[in-house]
Amino acid sequence: MENRVFNFSAGPAVLPEDVLLEVREDLLNYKGKGMSVMEMSHRSKDYQAIFNDTVARVKRVFGLEEDYEVLFLGGGASTQFLMTALNFCSDEKEANYILTGSWAKKAYTEAKKAGKKAHVAATSDDKNFNYIPKDLNLSPNPAFLHMTTNNTIYGTQFKTVPEVPADVPLFADMSSDIMSKPIDVKKFALIYAGAQKNIGPAGVTMVLIRKDIINRLQPDLPTMLSYKTHIEKDSMFNTPPTFPIYIVGLVMKWIENKGGLEAIAKINEEKAAYIYDVIDNSDGYYIGTVEKEDRSLMNITFRLPTEDLEAKFISEAANNMMSGLKGHRSVGGCRASIYNAFPMEGAKKLAEFMKEFQKNNPA
Ligand code: PMP
Repeated sequence: MENRVFNFSAGPAVLPEDVLLEVREDLLNYKGKGMSVMEMSHRSKDYQAIFNDTVARVKRVFGLEEDYEVLFLGGGASTQFLMTALNFCSDEKEANYILTGSWAKKAYTEAKKAGKKAHVAATSDDKNFNYIPKDLNLSPNPAFLHMTTNNTIYGTQFKTVPEVPADVPLFADMSSDIMSKPIDVKKFALIYAGAQKNIGPAGVTMVLIRKDIINRLQPDLPTMLSYKTHIEKDSMFNTPPTFPIYIVGLVMKWIENKGGLEAIAKINEEKAAYIYDVIDNSDGYYIGTVEKEDRSLMNITFRLPTEDLEAKFISEAANNMMSGLKGHRSVGGCRASIYNAFPMEGAKKLAEFMKEFQKNNPA
């Protein structure tokens, strides 16, 4: 559609245009029901059907069987930092973390703030998180091992799932690469993701819990912070974020229409290759900030020869309908976030723009 920019924002991020058009179509009067989805009671039959359809699609797209609970909660991924620790740590069992960036560190810090024992099993802190640590050093009795599959700020991504002993549940914050490729879901005992990058708008967080760890949940937690509450009431203990959940369902439908996660992964690889190729063939003009083997296909981070050139690059890109290329405020530089819904033409356009910019602005 005309006048829509190529939106490289790290999140909330671009949504599939087909999804937005469908939302618009049904905004005032959803399928002849005489009201917007926003106006429906979460306990109504019509909304329940939307909710059930969303859960069914999530399971289909992600390859989940009946052995996972699917929850839709408020509070953002940040609340999951706390809930994972509260629900699974005990006096004997310590939370274990792989620290690969700011979000992973926040999860670790949150466990400590909640008074839980937390252990660093691996970290790439020594090199400003520019790589994925490969060796793990677990504590003697781990409650779980927590990882962040994609590091939105630094631009690294796990390419393989770390090997853990069978009795150590693996937990993953997948906020910035959920459903960007097929994965072996069964390896993860718990997965959570804020929807606002790959699967929907801000306001809802998806949590998947493998049923075999439910007996490890700590009892007597404050109601809203207990997974038990939300599992027993099917995410309807209180009013869930009804409208964002509905949009997640539409994004699932869009993924299915594209051919599922295999097809999505191919497109994502192709999009990232356009941009990484320019970086790699720029004679050092564009400087990738992380180890090549650990580069993210979702958040491409790079620097230019000077901060002035970076500012000019970001501003000229914005004048050319490409927005959101500024790096996270904590690290500077540039970042191109190209989640599932980011279109191929946008990746090509940025690649061409980068080549032109280098020609016109020698170091
Ligand atoms: N984890 C990761 C990997 C993220 O990128 C973000 C947000 N950018 C968060 C957690 C925090 O998510 P929220 O804002 O939904 O709390």
